[in-house]
Amino acid sequence: MSVKVCKFGGTSMADGNVIKKVAGIIDGDSERRYIVVSAPGKRYSDDIKVTDLLYKCHNELTSEGDCKKSFALVRARFNSIVRELELDFDMQSVLDETERRINEEKSEDFTASRGEYLSARVVTAVLGAKFVDAEEVIFFKDNGSFDGEKSYRAISAAISGERRAVLPGFYGRGWDGKVKTFSRGGSDISGAIVARAVNASVYENWTDVSGFMACDPRIVDSPRHIKTISYKELRELSYMGANVLHSDSIFPVRRANIPIKIKNTFRPEDEGTSILPSSRYVPSGNVVTGVAGKKNFTVIFIEKSHMNAEIGFVCKVLGVLANEGVSVEHIPSGIDTMSLVIESSALCEDKLTRVLDGIKEAVAPDVLRVIENIALIATVGHGMSSSVGTSARLFQAIASADINIKMIDQGSSELNIIVGVCNDDYEKCIRAIYSEFFKREYR
Ligand code: ASP
Repeated sequence: MSVKVCKFGGTSMADGNVIKKVAGIIDGDSERRYIVVSAPGKRYSDDIKVTDLLYKCHNELTSEGDCKKSFALVRARFNSIVRELELDFDMQSVLDETERRINEEKSEDFTASRGEYLSARVVTAVLGAKFVDAEEVIFFKDNGSFDGEKSYRAISAAISGERRAVLPGFYGRGWDGKVKTFSRGGSDISGAIVARAVNASVYENWTDVSGFMACDPRIVDSPRHIKTISYKELRELSYMGANVLHSDSIFPVRRANIPIKIKNTFRPEDEGTSILPSSRYVPSGNVVTGVAGKKNFTVIFIEKSHMNAEIGFVCKVLGVLANEGVSVEHIPSGIDTMSLVIESSALCEDKLTRVLDGIKEAVAPDVLRVIENIALIATVGHGMSSSVGTSARLFQAIASADINIKMIDQGSSELNIIVGVCNDDYEKCIRAIYSEFFKREYR
C-alpha cells in the first residue's frame, strides 16, 4: 500500500482551530500516515513565531542565566493551543521539562528546536499516533552535513510498521550527540527526508498558499498559478527567493523520484502545485515557468588582459574568497573579464576591503571595480533552451521598461537566464518580464 508523508508548516500549527483542520485533512486519507510538523507560526501579521520566541529564550538565557520571561510566552502559546483543542494532555509537565532542558543544555540549536518538539507532542496527542523524536532518527555527520544513509535506515526502522507516526521537523542529532537544527525553514527538509526513508508515493507539503505562483504576488497582482513544475525549475526559483518551500528540500526526494505536492491547509480543495521529476514532467507549453529574484548583491568586476591564458587565474581569485569564508553566487566571465556576484550581507566593510586587497595581491588585475545594490532576477523555464528568441524577448521587455541591465548570466542548465539590475529597478523589471511571457497587464 502506498503511503504519503505530510509536512504541516508553521501557519498550519498556529492555533488549536487550525490543528483541528489539520487532523481532519489527515483523517481524510488513510494513506497520510507519517506527519512532520513545524513550530507554531504567526496567527496574525504582527504575531511572533514560536521559533523566534525560542531564539529570544536563548538570548535571555545567555545574558541572564535563565529564560523565564521569554519562555513564559512559549508556555502561553502552547497552553492556549491545548485549551482550544480541548485536549486531555498534561502539557504542563512537558513544558516544565522542556524549560529545564533548555536551561541545562544552553545550546541555541536545542532551544530553537523545541517549537517543533512541542508541536509534535501536541499533534501526536490529537491523532493518537506514535511520537518519534527527530533526535533519535535524523543524524548529521562530523562536517555538519546530513547523514542520509544512517538517517533513512533509522527512520524506516522506527516508523514503517506504525499506522501513524508524528515527527518534529527542523532538527536532528549532530555527531557530538547534541541537537542540531537545519537552516531556518528546515522542517521542509525533514519532511522530504522522511518521505525518502519510507519511499512515499508523494510528499505533501501543507502550507498557507495554494502552491507556486509564476511570480511574487506582492509585485504582480494575482499572478498565474503554477500547476506543475520540475524539481530543477523549482530549485532555481526557490533559490532565487520564491520561498514557498526550502530550496534544499528537493535533494532527498529527487533521487527517489518522489513527487512533492504543495497544498493549502486553509483551502484543501485547491489543486496546489505538483513538483515532479523531469522524467514525469510534461511542460505546460509556456516557455517560461516563473520569474523570481533577490535584492542586495555586490558585484566585484575584474579585468586583466590575457586572463584567459593565465593558468590558475580563476583558482587564485576564488582562493581569496575561500580564505575569507565568502561564497560566490555567480561568476559570469568574458575573455579578459570576470565578475563575482556575492550576497552583500556576506561582505561587511572590512571583509570587502580584505577581499579586494587579496585579489590585487593574487592576480594584479588591470581593473578592479565594485558595483553595489544589485538585484538578481531569474527567468526560469524548461521551454527556454528549445524555443528560439526567448532571450531576445526577455531583453526587449527589459529595455522597453527603460531598465539598464548590469549583468547577464545564462546558467549552463539552459533553464534560466539571470539578469542583474539596480535594486531600485527590481520590481519594475519583474513586472516587465512577467508581462512579456504571461501576457498580462502590469502597468
Ligand atoms: N520553525 C523553524 C523556523 O521557523 C523551522 C520551520 O518552520 O521549518 O525556521
